[in-house]
Amino acid sequence: LMKEIPDPIIAGFILGKKSLASEMKISFDIDHHSSFKDLPVDIDREKLVTIIGNLVNNAFEAVRENGKDSKEVTLFLTDLGKDLIIEVEDNGRGIDLVHSESIFQEGFTTKNTNTNAGIGLSLVQRAISEMGGYITFTSDKEENTIFTVAIPKKRGG
Ligand code: ADP
Ligand code: MG
Repeated sequence: LMKEIPDPIIAGFILGKKSLASEMKISFDIDHHSSFKDLPVDIDREKLVTIIGNLVNNAFEAVRENGKDSKEVTLFLTDLGKDLIIEVEDNGRGIDLVHSESIFQEGFTTKNTNTNAGIGLSLVQRAISEMGGYITFTSDKEENTIFTVAIPKKRGG
């Protein structure tokens, strides 16, 4: 992984998530087509970590509640030339489409966990909009949930 995603910040961060997943018995695959090899220097790594980290954490939390034996999360990193595409897919519990807008609002959560509850996706959305990108998702109770993020490599380009 380090070899194929030489960006040290992103690769190190993903490796950390990989070991967290194996502790939780989650199968976590990273699929990096043409990969994030040559990330432009002006792409904000900290924002990418915010985006990938929160989407992956949510996916881990969703598969832990899926009641199935298979708990699968896949991270796709694709460089389309003009845009970087980040996709996180899980076979978790799905998202009720009634909540499709509210999940991005600060403070919205369906979990009764910690004090940071409900801020993840709002931070993700802010980071994405500051980079000039967008986020969408699809989800079906019986199918997988996929969050898709597109980030332009050049602002205004
Ligand atoms: P938190 O994870 O603390 O609840 P987030 O802003 O990260 O806050 O997510 C908001 C809500 O969106 C979650 O509580 C959950 O209901 C929903 N959600 C986000 N990602 C997923 C996912 N992959 N599968 C199912 N539900 C999700
Ligand atoms: Mg979250």
